[in-house]
Amino acid sequence: MLENLAVKDTVGLVESLNFAQKVERSLELIKEAYAEYGDGLVVANSLGKDSVAVWHLAKRVNRKIRGFIVTTRYKPAETVQFMNEEVARYPELKVFRNDAEIPDKLYQTDPNRCCDILKVEPTRRAIEEMNVSCWVTGLRCTEGRTRTDFKEVEERDIGLIKLNPILIWYEREVWQYLALNNVPVNPLYAKGYRSLGCAPCTKIAQGLDERAGRWIGTSKCGGECGIHTRPLKLPVVK
Ligand code: SF4
Repeated sequence: MLENLAVKDTVGLVESLNFAQKVERSLELIKEAYAEYGDGLVVANSLGKDSVAVWHLAKRVNRKIRGFIVTTRYKPAETVQFMNEEVARYPELKVFRNDAEIPDKLYQTDPNRCCDILKVEPTRRAIEEMNVSCWVTGLRCTEGRTRTDFKEVEERDIGLIKLNPILIWYEREVWQYLALNNVPVNPLYAKGYRSLGCAPCTKIAQGLDERAGRWIGTSKCGGECGIHTRPLKLPVVK
């Protein structure tokens, strides 16, 4: 049972497990969840390094596992190119985006609203249309100040389980896994980015906080787009 694997002290596991033990734990979490939710288990793939690691782990559990990508009109050309390559490799990855008209430069005037329309809405739609009962993410508690309180297994929305199978991995361990398994990554990492998002809201940043380059100069700096903090089971706005 998935709930038997859930522990209260996930922070303790970050330091007490070694790389190989973390990989085993992640595989076990996905395996248990897949046994419980079957086709209702779907991986959210943001095309960042953490997502492609989780996608690779999920495919080791079962080749049939499906995924979705939420993209926006503001994604960098490199990310769009990488997305097209990933979808060609894995046709079971479904792409969602919101093309609704929005005010010019909404990302400057109201980034929360912009993320809500361009990221949260298509995520809700993906969950609805793909009949998701358990979504799997690449979220990690070592990524930055906004991510320390998440759990490996959560139920933020009633009837929708969220599985964060690499929650306790360090950034270095993600790169270790990707290198050891020859997993292709978004070419933006070679340019120095550590956390990827839309072009106007993502910069190359230094320092300990991996997400420091996100939404620089706004109240959202180093923060979240909302898919991990906002309800996802609202009625879909068409
Ligand atoms: S990351 Fe920036 S451009 Fe992308 S949806 Fe959010 S505010 Fe808009």
